[in-house]
Amino acid sequence: MIEQNKVVSLNYTVKDDAGQVIDTSEGGDPLTYLHGHKNIIPGLEGALSGKAAGEEFDVTVQPEEAYGEYREEMVQVVPRSAFEGVESVEPGMVFTAQTQGGPLQLTVTGVEGDDITVDPNHPLAGKVLHFTGSVESVREASAEELEHGHVHGAGGHDH
Ligand SMILES: [Zn+2]
Repeated sequence: MIEQNKVVSLNYTVKDDAGQVIDTSEGGDPLTYLHGHKNIIPGLEGALSGKAAGEEFDVTVQPEEAYGEYREEMVQVVPRSAFEGVESVEPGMVFTAQTQGGPLQLTVTGVEGDDITVDPNHPLAGKVLHFTGSVESVREASAEELEHGHVHGAGGHDH
């Protein structure tokens, strides 16, 4: 049964409100994570607690339990000179900026002359997410996995 400190493998598909597939494990490896260590979004982790291998799930997660609300005030316009060394800045490009709070991913959402609009919101911020799938396996975590707070081996960290 899924509970704190278990290693869980999931087959899953996540869709947005419009039914568009955002991500899926279909055709690839299952998602493997350490339960209770914030390895996955809290809304999904909470809903999976108590489920057993072979059980199916169908979970709707609100933004505050997923990637947070979309914060319009975080969108900024920066000068093109901030992108020194980049030949052509195009909408959709993703850059990593070094900030005091650590690395931050910025998506370019607009280019107008020398004004570049960048959006630091997570691409899934503000979205309601619908997860469906099944629990493939549940196992005990090793002492080393618990110490690291993540899964090792198949589907996990390789180090
Ligand atoms: Zn590790």
